[in-house]
Order: sequence, then C-alpha cells, then structure tokens
Amino acid sequence: MPGSVVRVTLSLIGPGIIGVFGVAFLAAWSYDRRRPYLALLAAACALFALGASSQILYWPRDTGLNAMVSGALYTCAVIAAVEGVLIRSSRAFGLWIDVAIFAAFSLALYYFFYVDRSLLARIYVQNFGYGLLLCVAALRLAHLRHGRVVDRILFWTLLLFGLHFFPRTVFTVGVSPPSGGPLVFADSVFWQTLQLSLAVLGAALAMAILAAAVSDLIDDLRRERDLDHLTGLLNRRGFEEEIAAPMRRAPEGASLILCDVDHFKSINDTFGHDVGDVVLKEIGAILRKTARKGDLVGRWGGEEFAVFLPDASLSDATECAERLRQTIANSRIPGLDTRPVTASFGVATIREAGDWTALYKLADSRLYLAKASGRDRTVDRGM
Ligand code: GH3
Ligand code: MG
Ligand code: MG
Repeated sequence: MPGSVVRVTLSLIGPGIIGVFGVAFLAAWSYDRRRPYLALLAAACALFALGASSQILYWPRDTGLNAMVSGALYTCAVIAAVEGVLIRSSRAFGLWIDVAIFAAFSLALYYFFYVDRSLLARIYVQNFGYGLLLCVAALRLAHLRHGRVVDRILFWTLLLFGLHFFPRTVFTVGVSPPSGGPLVFADSVFWQTLQLSLAVLGAALAMAILAAAVSDLIDDLRRERDLDHLTGLLNRRGFEEEIAAPMRRAPEGASLILCDVDHFKSINDTFGHDVGDVVLKEIGAILRKTARKGDLVGRWGGEEFAVFLPDASLSDATECAERLRQTIANSRIPGLDTRPVTASFGVATIREAGDWTALYKLADSRLYLAKASGRDRTVDRGM
C-alpha cells in the first residue's frame, strides 16, 4: 500500500473516534429527548469529523475553498460543542452571538486567504480563537468546579482543552513553521500534533460530557423515584432516605409530626377525586410553606403527610403542628365551596422514643388518639 494512503488512513483515526462519540451522543439523545444539548453535541462531533476529513482528503480540491469549507465546519463544530455544554447548565451564548462568532472566524479566514494570504495567520486565528472560545465557556461554567465529581471533571477537561490550543500552536509552529501545499502541510509537526491532541483531548472531553449526561439522567430517575408526583413532596421512600443523615447527626434532638386529613374519603365522595387531588396539593403546599428551612416534608401515602424536624423539642414540634393545623383549617380550597378542610396531628420526639421506628410508632399512636378524640387537633402525649 502506498505510504500516502497509509498516512491518510491513520490521519482519519482521530476524526473517526470523535465520530463514534457523535453516534454515542445521538444514541443518548434518542433515549432522552428532553436534553436537546445531546443532539447539539452529536452535531459538533459530526461537524468536526467532516471538517477534518475535508482537510485530510483534500476536498474540495481548491486550496482556498478547502480552507474556507474546513474552517467553517471546524468553527461550527466548536460553537456547537461549546453551546451544547453551556445549554446543559442553562448558560448558552444564544443564537446571535453564535452567528457573530461564526461570521468573525469566516471573515478572518477569507481575509487571510484571499486578501492578505498567510497560512500562519489562519493557523493562529483558528487555534487561538477556538482555544479562547473554549476557555470562555469553561469560565462560564466555573460554578461546576464545586459540583459533583463528574461536573468538576467536565470543567477542568474543558478548560484544559481550551488552554492547550495556545502552547501547542506556539510550540509546534515555532519548531517547524508549516508551509506549502497540502502534502507538505500534512507532514508538519503542527498538523500531526494537532491531530493527536484533538483526538486525545477531544475524546476526553466527549467522555466527560457523556459521564455528566449519564449522571444527570440517573439524578432525574432518582428524583422521580423519591418524589410524589401530585404534591411535589418527598414520597415515603425519599423521606426515609433523607432523614437517615440528620438522624445520624442529631439522634437526640429530632421530632416527627404525622398529619392525616380528616374525612378525606367524604371529600372525594362529595366533590370528586379531582377536587380531592387539589386538596392534597394545597395541603402539601401549606406544609412546605409553613415548615422551617431544614425540616423535611413528605407525603407518607394517601392523605397522610409527615414533617421531620431534625432539631426541635417536643414543644417546638407541637407548636409547629398547631400552626399547620390552624393554617389548614383557615384555608379556602377552590372547588370545595365553603366546606372547611381539617387535619389531625400526632407529634413525638426521639428523646421519648429512642429510634426512628419507635418515633414513627409513637407519633402514629398519637395521631390515632387525635382522630379518636374528635379530629382537627394535635396530640403530643398519651391520654
Ligand atoms: P379519617 O378522618 O379517619 O382519616 O377518615 P378519612 O376518610 O380521611 O380516611 P380513609 O382512610 O377512610 O380515606 C382516605 C381516602 O383517601 C381513601 C382514598 O380513596 C383517598 N385517597 C388516597 N390517595 C388519594 C389520592 O391520591 N387522591 C385522592 N383524591 N384521594 C386519595
Ligand atoms: Mg389516612
Ligand atoms: Mg384521613
């Protein structure tokens, strides 16, 4: 096989790897259409692979046209990659800035080919320009460096990828300034190092973004698993998981309020299930608004709710439950005409109970007492 064919084939490995990542992004997007940034990243990979292929295969065959076409594809690839990563964190530049960036690169490439021809100038415009764009994007995502491990890796990979354009270009252009036709250019230290670094760092960045996207997906699934869809509160599973940490930290100072809507079945029977749902949503909102920061509010199931106060004495918790009871009793819920809604409350503290299971049982037995003694009341001791 002639040497040039081998060299061209080897050169296509880098773009090929990025192309494979493009397929991975496309697959991830087709699985989760709620994240359009994945489609944008797929497009970025495809545009990069096309840009590199057009340069490597020297198509179009006119040097100026080749520089303009491959330059446009690279610029679009970088803009799409940057916007893809930024959209994920809701910090995109926006379409007009993207268009302006594209126009600036295209004009500069046009100028340095057709007006004041200089290969070096084009190299510096593209490499420093893309590096700058990637660094600006990384700085817009500076908050990620305090986030989850995947977010930190993404931030640093993006910054490193952006920064590497500067020393790599200066160094490789300094060692042997590329010049001449496509074959000489393809042999230059600049071009070969560029290919290698883009393949390695580009693949690392794509891996980091994919890992972050998979983590986003897992977080969403976990949230859906732990949240009650009707009220937006934690469900029983999420609630029990959330209290584990505060129970470990302050096992002595925690209290639990259990709340059960009174005669809820008759609300459903009289006004319909949909109105019953509105009542549950309203009560959920009251509990969330009235509870203090740091308290955990959950829908225990049906028309039963729970509030965990990680740092509250029995009397504090009873005061809180009374506040909730009065707010519910005074609320006017749409669809219920003038019928008031009331709820009963059972309160207990871990000091009396010992552990979580005992705490729950104690609060539940007091809730039962509140029901048995007439409803619309708070009970915080045995009778
Ligand atoms: P009590 O005062 O003794 O608590 O009486 P109650 O009618 O509130 O209690 P009961 O346990 O008899 O009825 C609870 C009702 O809650 C029965 C069930 O159909 C209804 N329910 C449970 N989940 C939902 C829901 O998501 N939406 C609506 N609308 N109703 C629900
Ligand atoms: Mg009940
Ligand atoms: Mg009830």
